Amino acid sequence: SPMVREHFLDKKPDLSKMIRLGSNENPYGPPKSAQKAACDSVVGGNRYAWQEMFDLVDKIAKKEGVSKESIMMGPGSSDLLEKVALVLFMHGGNIVSADPCYMSLIQVAKSVGATWKAVPVREDHSHDLKAMEAAVDKDTKLIYICNPNNPTGAITSGKELLDFCSRVSEKVPIFVDEAYIELAVGADTQSMVSLLQKNKNVIIARTFSKIMGMAGIRVGYMAAQPAFIAEIEKITRGGMGISYTSIAAASAAMDDNEFQGMTRKLNHEAKTYLYANLDKMGYKYIPSYTNFVIFPIKIAGKEMLSKMTAKGIVVRSFDIQNKPWCRVSIGTMDEMKSFVSALGTIS
Ligand code: PLP
Repeated sequence: SPMVREHFLDKKPDLSKMIRLGSNENPYGPPKSAQKAACDSVVGGNRYAWQEMFDLVDKIAKKEGVSKESIMMGPGSSDLLEKVALVLFMHGGNIVSADPCYMSLIQVAKSVGATWKAVPVREDHSHDLKAMEAAVDKDTKLIYICNPNNPTGAITSGKELLDFCSRVSEKVPIFVDEAYIELAVGADTQSMVSLLQKNKNVIIARTFSKIMGMAGIRVGYMAAQPAFIAEIEKITRGGMGISYTSIAAASAAMDDNEFQGMTRKLNHEAKTYLYANLDKMGYKYIPSYTNFVIFPIKIAGKEMLSKMTAKGIVVRSFDIQNKPWCRVSIGTMDEMKSFVSALGTIS
């Protein structure tokens, strides 16, 4: 990416021994309800889970207020991001997105020959929707929007985005990645899925990895126009990568509002604690609407990673416009206390 470069250690630490604040996982999951459903279902695992998958798709379609032909399932939303990138860009074209941005879809698109048109975010780290609209040309096959965004955690106003998607999707399909939307406490946010009822050409990706606490169980879906789903499914198959047990877990997790509410609350509390301590230490973080926070650091990114690793903590580090940043996921309160105390020893 022109603006962002991630740092990596030469040797990966043994994750089983670490406090894991690197991958924006939910420290409270999987929900007990989903654990039980997965265990109870494993006995059926000699069969393909066709019926169970149809049932889950029905349930998701009802929740989203769309037809079941509008839903495509994947083992995590990553799978769907990649499939869309492959199918849309196998004959070239360009993709418009913000920079910084979550790079999965864009990397795959570039690998099969797409050109990436990166549009710098605004001063408040929200999407520069005007500039993105201006970047669209006759070769643009997709606009990719991640809201709230990763790795910044920043949000773009739901009202502005709705207006943008409503208008600009008349020219080019818009993919909105809503991986963190349920965690956007106190923001003007809304899912773009309502635009499907108005026949707009938008694609919404959702995941069970974040609010539902099931990153390792691997379930995600996208909602789009049936014609768009059919185009992707002509070449790749939806849902084939999801196991019987994962389907059962996903269905149970969807019903577990208590778990989702608890995650939202505890994530917000631990994030508030982190903010207070970053303030105390003079770190100027970007206000986050997700389960991670990014802030500029005073040492090189790789040095940050190795010092944190020595303290038993996994974080991520990026250079953004050639300046080093640390991205830390929100763990439990105890984990954030460990992180804060480690950060206090690093300067
Ligand atoms: N989209 C965004 C913005 C993410 O941050 C992530 C994971 O961190 C994903 C998609 C992929 O998640 P999964 O494949 O677990 O659904």
